[in-house]
Amino acid sequence: MKVGTFPGGLNLGSIASDTSTFHEVPSSGTVIIPLKQYSGKACEPAVKKKDEVKVGSIIGESTGNDDASVHATVSGVVTNIFKKYPDMKGGTVPAIEIESDSKNELDVTVFEGTDIELIQKAGVVDLDIDAVPLHSKIALAKEKSVNTLIVNGVDVESQFSSRAVLLSEYAGEIAAGIDIISKLLGVTSVHIGVIEKASSAISSISSACSTAQVVGLKDKHPQSLRELLVKAILGKEIPQGGIPEDIGVTVISAETALFVARAVNDKKPVIERFITVAGGGLSKSKNVLVRIGTPIKEVLDYCGVSVGGAGKVIIGGPMMGTAIHSTDMPITKETTGIFVQNENEIAEFPSGVCIKCGLCIDICPMKLMPFLISGLSEAGKYAMAEKNDIHGCNECGCCSYVCPVLIPMVHWIKFGKSEIRAQRSSE
Ligand code: SF4
Ligand code: SF4
Repeated sequence: MKVGTFPGGLNLGSIASDTSTFHEVPSSGTVIIPLKQYSGKACEPAVKKKDEVKVGSIIGESTGNDDASVHATVSGVVTNIFKKYPDMKGGTVPAIEIESDSKNELDVTVFEGTDIELIQKAGVVDLDIDAVPLHSKIALAKEKSVNTLIVNGVDVESQFSSRAVLLSEYAGEIAAGIDIISKLLGVTSVHIGVIEKASSAISSISSACSTAQVVGLKDKHPQSLRELLVKAILGKEIPQGGIPEDIGVTVISAETALFVARAVNDKKPVIERFITVAGGGLSKSKNVLVRIGTPIKEVLDYCGVSVGGAGKVIIGGPMMGTAIHSTDMPITKETTGIFVQNENEIAEFPSGVCIKCGLCIDICPMKLMPFLISGLSEAGKYAMAEKNDIHGCNECGCCSYVCPVLIPMVHWIKFGKSEIRAQRSSE
């Protein structure tokens, strides 16, 4: 089998060969379901306070290309409609609170429509750095006449294994979803990228999906990012500031294909996530199936994780994730995994002055000058940071990881991007 890779990046010792199955987290007594779980605009609430809902009832309906429908994940009563509920990115989103009646009755309303309409009604989103409504991604790919589909079977962080296990255990449904997406796009070639160590995933998806070429990939962070999958699998570069669709390629994740099969073949909405819980406090990482809206603390309790006084909970993993201040926050369609650092693992360190060793440049998979764009952001020189392609940074964290004087480059780059966004929105 061909083994692909990309220049730069880090070998962090993947757990993708872990085959632990998914354990279902019990449904919560109260769920909080954000009306925006992707990049785009929030859905309007389709319910009001005191309404009764069932599992799968629409509580926020997609009306265009920049939103995705949202559904109840427990049966019960709507107890609150929040205009502003804290989200993982430090902002706020509208959200709906549902108190469960513990019956988990299913809404039997049957979705109808074309395949693309069913995908929109089911609220399928695709995950890369950000989540995007899948129906809008498919519309863009068709507009750009893509001819190649890459299915991302690589976990977003080396500490997670849920995507590899999903490929192994749900290969039939994922293959059915790939078939539907391929037909919608009219692509002529399909590739599935999987870390070469994940042998069970490779063997299951190779048997289930005869129309795709399964490509083994070297175990390197951040292999799961779309630009690097395109490079590793097709050997092609995406032009600076561009997207894969500009060169005729679209990338979707393995779980997206699974949810597409469920939306189109079973008329089922997206109400759950397959994620890994890893890090200190667990003797071994655990893969779980959890309903959207479940408070993170309930997932941690189920996994037997205790976060000590100064411990940290990082959503999305240690390299690219975001530390949250409250475990009351809910699981959303954007949650890829939970990484817990216990208080003994947290180190406070002073950073030094750049010694111009060049390690950050060598490691950067996007061929940037991390020390430069980070320094420009720290100095508030945002126009210069943009000229040096701050937006080309995928926030993989490799530069900060290797810096011998511990300069938190990715922190300053994220800060610079958020300042640029704030300036643009005030203009
Ligand atoms: S500059 Fe960005 S893309 Fe390059 S190594 Fe640092 S975080 Fe990764
Ligand atoms: S790795 Fe750190 S010390 Fe070396 S060039 Fe980059 S910022 Fe400077």
